[in-house]
Amino acid sequence: MSTDIKHLTERIKARILEYEGHVVPHSTGVVLTVGDGIARVSGLSGAVLGEKLQFSGGASGIAFNLNEDTVGAVVLGDTRAVKEGDRVTSTGEVLQVPVGASLVGRVVNSLGEPVDGRGPVHSTETRPVESPSPGISERQPVRTPLHTGLKAIDSMVPIGRGQRELIIGDRETGKTSIAIDAIVNQKGTGVICVYVAIGVKASSVARTVQALRDAGAMDHTIVVSAPSSEPAPMQYLAPFSGCAMAEYFMYRGGDTLVVYDDLVRHAMAYRAMSLLLRRPPGREAYPGDIFYLHSRLLERSAKLADALGGGSMTALPIAQTLAGDISAYIPTNIISITDGQIYLESDLFFAGVRPAINVGLSVSRVGGSAQTAGMRKVAGRLRLELAQYRELAAFARFATDLDRSTRRRLVRGERIVEVLKQPRFRPMPVEHQVAVIYAAVSGYLDRVPVRAVRRFEDEFIDFLVREHPEVVKAIQAGDVAGPLDRALSEFDKHFVSEREEPY
Ligand code: ATP
Ligand code: MG
Repeated sequence: MSTDIKHLTERIKARILEYEGHVVPHSTGVVLTVGDGIARVSGLSGAVLGEKLQFSGGASGIAFNLNEDTVGAVVLGDTRAVKEGDRVTSTGEVLQVPVGASLVGRVVNSLGEPVDGRGPVHSTETRPVESPSPGISERQPVRTPLHTGLKAIDSMVPIGRGQRELIIGDRETGKTSIAIDAIVNQKGTGVICVYVAIGVKASSVARTVQALRDAGAMDHTIVVSAPSSEPAPMQYLAPFSGCAMAEYFMYRGGDTLVVYDDLVRHAMAYRAMSLLLRRPPGREAYPGDIFYLHSRLLERSAKLADALGGGSMTALPIAQTLAGDISAYIPTNIISITDGQIYLESDLFFAGVRPAINVGLSVSRVGGSAQTAGMRKVAGRLRLELAQYRELAAFARFATDLDRSTRRRLVRGERIVEVLKQPRFRPMPVEHQVAVIYAAVSGYLDRVPVRAVRRFEDEFIDFLVREHPEVVKAIQAGDVAGPLDRALSEFDKHFVSEREEPY
């Protein structure tokens, strides 16, 4: 008996030693289950992470989770076209989207397919949605300005080409409007813009597109639309597609501006997708790689070295906060991977200060070196006057008799705040901005009633353009004080308005 067992174990051992384990890579598989934009596929043992998959019904997908005997895939495009039992093939390549000049002026989905009813996009080239970001030696410092046309930004939180500047604030604080104004202001500059809408209502994307068209800004803009009605995978993909479309121009030496509106909703789409794929949830149920995901995206913005053509991609990611909480998980992540932030506040917005930029909290860590000489001359004084005003305004409300210098600061501060207000779709050339900011910080508005400040500004710019184009040229050349003092004292005589008592 015992010899039998011994014999048997010997034979089993021998068989084990003979066994050669190997997995046969299969490039085809079968859909086991499908739902919510996620498919579980058997077979496909040869699939690699991030590989593009082709479903027999026509939809494509991405291999996301590689399990022992199944692959978790996200379905892109029409999910209804995928059924249980459908065949799936791995394509051996990463997902690509169409790129090129034919996309400019169009509204496309995350796959680069047109959704604006204006016919097919005739594009001959494609780019992978994910590609490595340029290395240090392939970049150069950010030193060319990208003007938004907004006085408060170009003066105090200047943005340079290749920079990543976050626009952050609560609901309805004018975040999208700032980005749209920046896009409108690129008209005629050669900068190609990509506006990526993620998780917003389809109707608000349509409004944005209409606004861009009305402003004549679609001629240099691509809109990638992944509204909330799209499945989570399409929302997840949108910023990567938009980035690839901008990269195409950047690597050809062009300058580009990409707006991701917004990355908090993008994170939510990724969370939904990851939970459906049964990935382990981390903080606030976000998957652990959410930070990596966003840094990978934003790292692709750059100012390329001259040897690579010197192109650039400036990124304006947008993040929505709840009750001004910038320390929430996703906003802090994004703040840490951008070069500064424009912080918008509901209180300012409702007080009529629009754009509602909190000057104290907003910073640009690289743009200052990219400011024009003229702007640099007035920006320092502007910041100082504003800071002093805010400090005084807080307690002056309770004070009765104020000394002269305090009154002067309050009077001037009020006018500066007024000058920094700007309606939508009215971007201003930077020389004009310098002219009105100079007027405000130098006290030329001190005796003009606050309600007449806007009119002073409009009429003064008109006056400069019509009668003193040489002053505008001088500002361009960096000569500010002399020419503007002369123009302002002349204009002051023309400007019809009651005057207030000096302080
Ligand atoms: P959401 O949280 O819904 O995305 P948002 O922060 O992107 O909102 P916007 O949609 O840009 O905000 O603007 C909200 C409203 O404020 C709009 O009705 C817009 O017309 C108005 N608004 C924005 N900027 C200005 C401005 N500079 N002057 C006057 N109104 C403005
Ligand atoms: Mg918005």
